[in-house]
Amino acid sequence: MHLIILFILLFLIGILLFFTCHKIDIYTTKSKKKGPKILLIAGTHGNEPSGYLALLRVQNALKQNKLKLKSGEITIIHNVNPCGYYLDNRHYNTVGKDIDLNRMYGKNFPINNKIEPIIDKYDIVIDFHEGWGFISDKKGSIGSSIQAINIPKYHYDNILKIINSDINLNYKKWELNTRRIIANTLRDYCIRKKKKYILVETSGQNNIQSMNIRVNQNLKIINYILTKYKVL
Ligand SMILES: [Zn+2]
Repeated sequence: MHLIILFILLFLIGILLFFTCHKIDIYTTKSKKKGPKILLIAGTHGNEPSGYLALLRVQNALKQNKLKLKSGEITIIHNVNPCGYYLDNRHYNTVGKDIDLNRMYGKNFPINNKIEPIIDKYDIVIDFHEGWGFISDKKGSIGSSIQAINIPKYHYDNILKIINSDINLNYKKWELNTRRIIANTLRDYCIRKKKKYILVETSGQNNIQSMNIRVNQNLKIINYILTKYKVL
């Protein structure tokens, strides 16, 4: 008898987790004037929260009309991996096989299936992550870097200049990340779809820098791109 109750309980917890993990907030706002369509996406890895917080701030400002679109369209997915975020875990699933949502694009995975049709219709994707160290430190981390694909060079030069102007220590300076593309990542998917794509990697895992610094760096990049593409 006890076993049946335990089984039912585990089944209900499973159902609850299934729906919680799949429930992602997708917010879209459009201007009446035609312009670029920009997707801002964060929280793919649950232990990289600064993009999540920056995007939530932008989303709230748009909802409250504190920010208004001049042209185009923005979609914000501030937390791709809600269960990972609650558990402070990189993966979508830690029970059984670890599933990295950033290796599941083009693989018919339920969460990625919600995101891919948006990318297909959009022009620019900005993807927020956090590294464990600093790229300038040359120890193998890509923290404090951007990777830009199909974006004019002067844009990423400007972004690096703007962010680095507030950083005094050399090992914390941002650089361009030219690492190889890993299959089935959002980067890989955007390249295949010929989209403009920016990967933002603050230095943030395990709180190696204050959240304030990381959120502000994300906001500077968002502000730069949205302003330059005349969406804000
Ligand atoms: Zn990540």
